[in-house]
Amino acid sequence: MRKKVYVVNPNGTDNIPLNLNPTLELPSKCPICETGYANLPLISYFIQSDSSCFAATIYSLHLCPHCEKCFMVTYSASGNYNCLETKISEIFPHPESCTKFPLRISDLSPKFVEIYLQAEKAENSGLSEICGLGYRKALEFLLKDFAIHTHPELAEQIKSAPLNQCIKKYISAENIRTLAERSAWLGNDEAHYIKKHNDRDVSDMKSFVEACVYFIS
Ligand SMILES: [Zn+2]
Repeated sequence: MRKKVYVVNPNGTDNIPLNLNPTLELPSKCPICETGYANLPLISYFIQSDSSCFAATIYSLHLCPHCEKCFMVTYSASGNYNCLETKISEIFPHPESCTKFPLRISDLSPKFVEIYLQAEKAENSGLSEICGLGYRKALEFLLKDFAIHTHPELAEQIKSAPLNQCIKKYISAENIRTLAERSAWLGNDEAHYIKKHNDRDVSDMKSFVEACVYFIS
């Protein structure tokens, strides 16, 4: 959920407005007690990090009404004062929980579960540049292990095929094929592509993984 948030600039100068109200994405749950959360922050501070080109960090302090503890969200912001582009870069403390997968999935592809949890840990720690690669790699293991499970005689071809070709050739589940066709990032095995479209692709990838886990389990 994105909301207009009143932001205070503690270093108010003539060329930086004292108060901004950018649209910030609110955290969906408390990282401490895991309860669903949609409140506005208690206060937010805006710190400009580079005066020559507009790049800044916004720090928001939240109070969870359930566990009555505070946590902090940092946002990176770019653009201009009238139109700030913001994204969550880190949440403190880092969420400790990790995704639980059905037994069928961990039996089918233990490597998928291992890589996915590492990527999730990276994402929770604010390592946004590498978690996308991790999710992409995890997905590849899940779908290839699934394809090998249904076509064990073609294991060697499946292992060496690019992921999108593997889906086209060896996966008959219509839902997964349809999703794959809509995922622009899937045809690109190169790391630089994922980096270039990091935000959109990471959430797209996670939705895709979630759907594949649902269809396969
Ligand atoms: Zn809480």
